[in-house]
Amino acid sequence: MSNVLILADHDSGKVAKTAAELATLGKRASSVNAVILSAPGQSDALAAQLANTEVEKVLSVESDDFAKHGIAAMVDALSQIVATTNPVAVLIPSTARGKEIAGRLAVRIGGGVITDAVDVASNLQTTQSVFGGSFTVTASVKTGTPVITVRPSAVEASSTSNSPTVEKLSISIADSAKLVTISESKPAVKGGRPELTEAKIVISGGRGTNGDFSQVEAMADLLGAAVGASRAATDAGWYPHTHQVGQTGKTVSPQLYVACGISGAIQHRAGMQTSKTIVAINKDPEAPIFDLADFGVVGDLFAVLPQAREAIAAKRS
Ligand SMILES: Cc1cc2nc3c(=O)[nH]c(=O)nc-3n(C[C@H](O)[C@H](O)[C@H](O)COP(=O)(O)OP(=O)(O)OC[C@H]3O[C@@H](n4cnc5c(N)ncnc54)[C@H](O)[C@@H]3O)c2cc1C
Repeated sequence: MSNVLILADHDSGKVAKTAAELATLGKRASSVNAVILSAPGQSDALAAQLANTEVEKVLSVESDDFAKHGIAAMVDALSQIVATTNPVAVLIPSTARGKEIAGRLAVRIGGGVITDAVDVASNLQTTQSVFGGSFTVTASVKTGTPVITVRPSAVEASSTSNSPTVEKLSISIADSAKLVTISESKPAVKGGRPELTEAKIVISGGRGTNGDFSQVEAMADLLGAAVGASRAATDAGWYPHTHQVGQTGKTVSPQLYVACGISGAIQHRAGMQTSKTIVAINKDPEAPIFDLADFGVVGDLFAVLPQAREAIAAKRS
């Protein structure tokens, strides 16, 4: 029987809410099997969290290899499951990790990949919002098993009275997926920053951070500030959507707003233009954010922010 396979991502013993969302979309096309890849002894508790979703069956694989060898091991297990269950599509959360898994999986199984879908129809046609939401496109995979990543919160998860059955699969991870070993992994330490909408100072990062918010966060921590982000950054999965400033994010009006690597699109301005003092750091002197800024620095944020921190620290001492 045909089925849609979804990847039920999880962290710290909790299944991500994206699993129920993917199941809701998958159910439009077929019955839904969820894959849980976990450490030994974890899968029952994780599978139980998929009760009352559209998931009919949980396929669980327990192995130390997922923590040890990361995405390569996950892709190896997933491709073996695809080969044996022959799903009509594989749905994966559109996170940075999910997109990497999707790309690698598509290559392994010879299927087409679509990323960042915001909707999936019963015929597996996807909808994507592109160019910062300026265009909506529809697309379908024409070759092999479609691998589709879906943006978190794209749909409201439907609730059911299902209690999925659980099948434990015995899969051995290929040696070729064990070439890289993760020696250490530490969750990022959050520094008890103030709430975005209440903060007196907000330091925001955009696409110019290229996904590295460390300088933005270091400046925020020095100034006791909250961290904001442009939609380009949140859509890329670089920073949580709860930190998005703008028309479709939060509206902030702090004493000081520092925009780092943010161009100043109208939709971003909508959320921050009432800030008392606006500072912009941008490599492009023509960036529209400079029209709005009280102070502007034309330069690379990775060079400017450390120097600014040093200067502030020197002034304080
Ligand atoms: C309906 C709708 C709603 C939207 N809602 C929002 C919203 O709520 N919030 C929001 O932010 N956007 C929103 N957008 C998206 C918005 O139009 C822009 O696409 C988005 O704000 C761009 O983000 P950005 O400035 O980070 O990226 P870009 O526009 O790509 O700008 C990146 C900037 O970084 C600079 N840069 C690159 N590298 C560096 C570096 N190393 N150092 C310094 N500068 C660098 C570049 O010169 C560039 O100016 C919305 C769009 C639509 C259509």
